[in-house]
Amino acid sequence: MYNPSLTESILIRGGRVIDPAHGRDETADVLIVDGVIQAVGRLEFTAQCRVIEAEGLVVAPGLVDMHVHLREPGQEYKEDIASGTRAAAAGGVTSVACMPNTQPVADDLSVIGYIQERARQSGVVRVFPVGAITKGLQGQVLTEMGLLQRAGCVAFSDDGRPVSDSGVMRKALEYSRMFSALLIQHAEEPSLSGGCMHEGIVSSRLGLPGIPSESESVMVDRDIRLVALTGGRYHVAHLSTRQAVVAVEQARRQGLPVSCEVTPHHFSLTDEAVIGYDTDAKMSPPLRSTTDRQALLDGLAQGVITVIATDHAPHDEENKRVEFCRAANGVIGLETLLPVSLELVRDGVMSLSACLAAMSCHPARLLGIPHGTLEVGRAADVVLFDPEESWIVDARQMQSKSKNSCFHGRRVKGRVKQTLVAGRVVYTDEGR
Ligand SMILES: [Zn+2]
Repeated sequence: MYNPSLTESILIRGGRVIDPAHGRDETADVLIVDGVIQAVGRLEFTAQCRVIEAEGLVVAPGLVDMHVHLREPGQEYKEDIASGTRAAAAGGVTSVACMPNTQPVADDLSVIGYIQERARQSGVVRVFPVGAITKGLQGQVLTEMGLLQRAGCVAFSDDGRPVSDSGVMRKALEYSRMFSALLIQHAEEPSLSGGCMHEGIVSSRLGLPGIPSESESVMVDRDIRLVALTGGRYHVAHLSTRQAVVAVEQARRQGLPVSCEVTPHHFSLTDEAVIGYDTDAKMSPPLRSTTDRQALLDGLAQGVITVIATDHAPHDEENKRVEFCRAANGVIGLETLLPVSLELVRDGVMSLSACLAAMSCHPARLLGIPHGTLEVGRAADVVLFDPEESWIVDARQMQSKSKNSCFHGRRVKGRVKQTLVAGRVVYTDEGR
């Protein structure tokens, strides 16, 4: 992991420095001393500094991805903490929150401790475990959230599955409120979710069983009522439907502690990507309709959706090279997060600063971690990227062990040049 005993000073010179947490967007230098941001502005060059020339590049806080599956322990053939954090670094991501649906499930101190130890040994970016809400993700018995939070869990989720029992969800919200813990819900009503793609014209045409939008919105509606009852902090993972955007918008207007995230694949693709039965277009929730996608864009533009997260879900070929309905759900996303999100800026959906906020200070605040900003005194987690460089996504070139990208072959713009964690360069694209 990052080395806290650096003695070197680094000057990142002449870049467009964007720090959304402080409304900064200007040509400036960033001085890093001993892994900490020392100063930001027009700075004097001193001979002792190592200089990173950043002219023409954007210099931003290292990205924070609050929804990642690192697969360790238990499914290291798909991904492990070493490969997953290398993929993060290559994507400009310096902090990841990893989901607890590992084997064994991250529902007790020993598994959380194991993940933290492995992250120290083999991780190249910061790894923040998300603990399970219920034991074994079984949806029945709550975990020891207080203990797990003290051990370092930044949120709780049964992701991959919903907490579907209303009574259990109510108790989880009440209990989590005692520690101001964030509950992240994979919002899906199981009795409406038998299909393998979005239910609509495309599913009818392809003859595939569909999952209606209501599968998500019914659960979000229920949960928001339980948030109103309990006051617990609630976050919708990978929100995908228009109805759910409306529900979150209303809840936020009422002042309820409700937030949500959207993935690059949900805001940039629709169920038409399933035509051709490409299993890399199969995920949960499924890619939705054009109307839903437009609602996600509007939600981002209006600040209803405050977070972009990848739901990076590596799967090996054995689980993907099968007929569509039998294929595993999920796609990788860490190495395409930034360029695909920059399409929002080019399409006029949001400003570059707002787009970066959704991948830095906003998720950091929800998780309560002191990252996602270039504030003086904070750890120097920084990404340098060229917003104009055009390239074609090639999953085979990625750091992730799994290659299940739904963006393979897509022409994108915006390329990560260097990623620093606590002032240490953990990724550079030189030589690529
Ligand atoms: Zn999920």
